[in-house]
Amino acid sequence: MNDNLDPLFKPRSVALIGASVKELSIGNVIIKNLLHYHFRGPVYPINPKVDEIRGLKAYPSVLDVPGDVDLAHIVIPPPFVPEEVENCGKKGVRAIIINTAGFKEMGAEGQALEDDFLARAKRYGIRIVGPNCQGIINSDPEINAYCNFTFTYPDPGHISVVAQSGGVGAVIMQAFYDMGIGQRMYASTGNGSDVSITEILSYYGKDETTRAIVLYAERIENTQEFIAVAKQVTARKPVLAITAGRTDKGAEASRSHIGGLAGSISLDLIYKKAGIMTFGSQAELCHAAVALSSQPVPHGNKVGIITNTGGPSVIAIDELVSCGLELPPLSEKGREILKGTMLESASIRNPLDVVATAGPGHFKSALEVMMNEPQFDSIYINFVTPPFVDCENVARAIAAAAKAGNKPVVCNYMTDKQKWGGTSKILKEGEIPCFDFAETAARALHSLVRYNAIRSAREGAVKQFTDIHREVVQATLLHAHAENREVLLAAEVYGILNAYKIPVAPWTVVKERSAVAEAAAGIGFPVVIKADSETIIHKSDVGGVAVNINNMQEAAAVAESMQKILGSDIKFFIQKFLLKGRELIIGAKASEGAGHIIMFGLGGIFVEVMKDVAFAITPVSDTEAMEMIGALKAARLIEGFRGEKGINKLKTVEIIQRISMLVSDFPTIREMDLNPLFATGDEICVVDARIIL
Ligand code: ADP
Ligand code: MG
Repeated sequence: MNDNLDPLFKPRSVALIGASVKELSIGNVIIKNLLHYHFRGPVYPINPKVDEIRGLKAYPSVLDVPGDVDLAHIVIPPPFVPEEVENCGKKGVRAIIINTAGFKEMGAEGQALEDDFLARAKRYGIRIVGPNCQGIINSDPEINAYCNFTFTYPDPGHISVVAQSGGVGAVIMQAFYDMGIGQRMYASTGNGSDVSITEILSYYGKDETTRAIVLYAERIENTQEFIAVAKQVTARKPVLAITAGRTDKGAEASRSHIGGLAGSISLDLIYKKAGIMTFGSQAELCHAAVALSSQPVPHGNKVGIITNTGGPSVIAIDELVSCGLELPPLSEKGREILKGTMLESASIRNPLDVVATAGPGHFKSALEVMMNEPQFDSIYINFVTPPFVDCENVARAIAAAAKAGNKPVVCNYMTDKQKWGGTSKILKEGEIPCFDFAETAARALHSLVRYNAIRSAREGAVKQFTDIHREVVQATLLHAHAENREVLLAAEVYGILNAYKIPVAPWTVVKERSAVAEAAAGIGFPVVIKADSETIIHKSDVGGVAVNINNMQEAAAVAESMQKILGSDIKFFIQKFLLKGRELIIGAKASEGAGHIIMFGLGGIFVEVMKDVAFAITPVSDTEAMEMIGALKAARLIEGFRGEKGINKLKTVEIIQRISMLVSDFPTIREMDLNPLFATGDEICVVDARIIL
């Protein structure tokens, strides 16, 4: 990774290879954009057939340009791209945006061209954005680089956007623009053949002026690197993402539970692990970015409300409370102050209804009290603009209080923006995040609280267990590979679990039917007898599980009837019959480029019907394992319910971490299912497991 992307984002000069006189062409629009945005350096159109484009002198080749060229756009057809990259190399160009499409995404021929230009770029140390992309924007007034073919000209600001899809990126850029919110940098990466989303994220992370980063990706290439980089960035500033592809059909039919449930939710999990905030809607993401880029981070979830209208605060409170925020009461001291400063009809509590006739002084006092009361972490304001009030000075009071205090302020500003332009301007210049609806403002405030929780979360520890026997697992897996087997036999699976000290019910396997009764007696009755065969996946579905066998005669009879139904080549897996307690499920599934996804949930109907499971990416830390337990809808059952004892959470966390370590140590384990584990009293024990390679 090389995140020195200055040649790309801070070019001192730009050439456009494929510049055109045709108004409706990318080769013309980019020049128009650079000029319109007042790019600070020279722009060099490259076109051998014309002398001038948009009043600028055109050059036959980039090699003919008299000055240095930092950044070049290439908009010519794919077959000519490698040669132009070569010319750029000779010229000393440092970064290239290839807007042209028709490479890797078009098959082998396109791939060959892509490989060709990449090799040349590498030789000259040129960084490439794209192909098949829009480009970049940098609103820094010292630079004013609009190296992009879109049409929105953002004002300088503090939000930077990186989007794999230019379509989504442009929509988000437009949304901020429409809200009157400035932006810092923008990049759309397209095919991402060279400069990666990770590098851009890191670059934005180091940019002092960028206060919040918006990310849109459909896939992340090098997941572990991305997570490591993003973790560092999110510790310093918020990163907000839309999770794309949530409904991916990736939940392919599978031989294990986890396969069916994990699907392609991995993008969500990657973001979670990296501390990236995810949003279900683009609008909500944009609102959150506005709040996060303008307000300090609150220290907790306690909010004070100031309102000059009743209904909107009811809606706000509903939303805030359902997001988990709290409304502590005013202190006695605060109430005393406000009794002296508020209007007669004001309601002195939290929410503080200053009433519609409240003027600047009332708002000022209300804000001062809430800023000073330590039980409030943030302030939510409903501000409707009554025509009989000096609203401009109310806005000034709000802006001044926000500036003086160190608590975030979010405002539901209800007005006619034309008629109340002066008031709007004051709020905007005071960087008060304003939203049209109470619930929108409430959710934006919630995003600040979310970010605080992310930033202050304890970095979990990934436990490296030393009491394990890797060599046992190694030998078992090699043996299965040698025999070309994908599904491990019970003895192999339980041997592996033993080697990683994952508690299992006492067990044995016998091949001969005649040995079953004796072996069962050896385990000690009552026992369970299960058919063990590579071809039987769900044993109880085919009559391959007999529980609560109490003596040798029963054991012998069960063995005989199982062989009758399932064939004489099955083996017999004999296990101690355990009292049920709570059933748990733990699974692991290899995820391309991202390690494994670990799943945890309650077994039985909870997983089958409710799909109540939680996921995390390996390596799973103790904090993450604990979060998985807490994330279940049925979390209360795990805590214990109506006299029924809860499960031992620390032991559960340990088992999850041991599984995480096992699959990380042996990435050839494709899927693994422990279903169920029985949690009785303080003990947790695996009673069924399978491993697929
Ligand atoms: P499969 O999932 O292949 O059908 P299991 O081994 O999970 O087979 O057995 C089916 C069910 O039988 C389990 O979900 C559990 O309820 C019960 N069972 C399995 N083993 C035991 C055991 N050792 N003690 C008590 N009940 C068990
Ligand atoms: Mg089972």
